[in-house]
Amino acid sequence: MEPIPATADDCCVKVAVHIRPLIGDENLQGCKDCVTVVPGKPQLQLGAHSFTFDHVYGSTGSPSSAMFEECVSPLVDGLFQGYNATVLAYGQTGSGKTYTMGTGFKDGCQTGLIPQAMNALFNKIESLQNQVEFQLHVSFIEILKEEVRDLLDNKPELTNGQNGKVNIPGKPPIQIRETSNGVITLAGTTDCSVKTLKEMTECLEHGSLSRATGSTNMNNQSSRSHAIFTITLEQVSKPNSNDSMCDEYLCAKLHLVDLAGSERAKRTGSDGMRFKEGVHINRGLLALGNVISALGDEKKRKEGAHVPYRDSKLTRLLQDSLGGNSRTVMIACVSPADINAEETLNTLKYANRAR
Ligand code: ADP
Ligand code: MG
Repeated sequence: MEPIPATADDCCVKVAVHIRPLIGDENLQGCKDCVTVVPGKPQLQLGAHSFTFDHVYGSTGSPSSAMFEECVSPLVDGLFQGYNATVLAYGQTGSGKTYTMGTGFKDGCQTGLIPQAMNALFNKIESLQNQVEFQLHVSFIEILKEEVRDLLDNKPELTNGQNGKVNIPGKPPIQIRETSNGVITLAGTTDCSVKTLKEMTECLEHGSLSRATGSTNMNNQSSRSHAIFTITLEQVSKPNSNDSMCDEYLCAKLHLVDLAGSERAKRTGSDGMRFKEGVHINRGLLALGNVISALGDEKKRKEGAHVPYRDSKLTRLLQDSLGGNSRTVMIACVSPADINAEETLNTLKYANRAR
């Protein structure tokens, strides 16, 4: 069964801004809040600059259910109709990307968008169980310096001992491949088959910890890499079901991406090594910005203009889930502190370009 073509409204990239509260350090330094939300509107002001997005979420604490309902829930529902989707958290290091996505297990934070998406997914599966047979897989990788690292490698057996893990002896490098019908696959990564919410949470937790401890300097590592948690949902209608036709097969995936810090290379350090990392990070974020702005340009899209997916590993990997029939939400995370005003402005400009 072919997915139903998306309407024009579905194709575009939705952009939301999440402003976190002032945090410890900023309060200690006596920072002032310099970001103002226009009441009742998805609008905000930073100095003389004014921006309008699809949604703006003020500093009310954890990623609210409103953010989930408005930004991510429609994407989870779309999976059941065969639409791929991508959620991207963009922003400078410390702006709340990990907090918003919910992969920062060190805080014991379980209220982020990924845990909420997993909950919604399993609730929906439960409600459809009589009519449809489901299979779920997850992978969790990070891209650092244009290299892909498997965050679920060495994952201990799941509690029920059947995680369907594929172990590749000798570990060839992970490769991004494209099938003849345009489906992007990752060869050489662990693809965990999961049956329960608990198993999926274990994968998320394991990968998050693996990301945080993957280098001698946690902050640097995780702020320079893109982390991509991918849920693949396969469904086959049960032949005896009355509501749906026999033998219908659908497969769709949801990428939940905690992007590398968007701050400029000059601020991350001056030695050659770090600069190179900075350049690579910029390559992914730069390519992403170009892809998203090409997709957002309706005129160009109709003319079939070139979308530069191949310019980075990040955009290549997300190719079949950005644009086309898929749905994309970018959540721009910002700090309200005046000392971060310059980076906040950069983030808002980048996000604005995506609309
Ligand atoms: P990033 O992943 O963008 O580098 P983090 O998610 O690690 O940023 O957030 C930086 C700090 O701010 C963390 O200590 C986190 O707990 C805190 N924080 C982020 N967003 C919020 C929020 N909405 N409410 C409260 N604290 C937050
Ligand atoms: Mg982070």
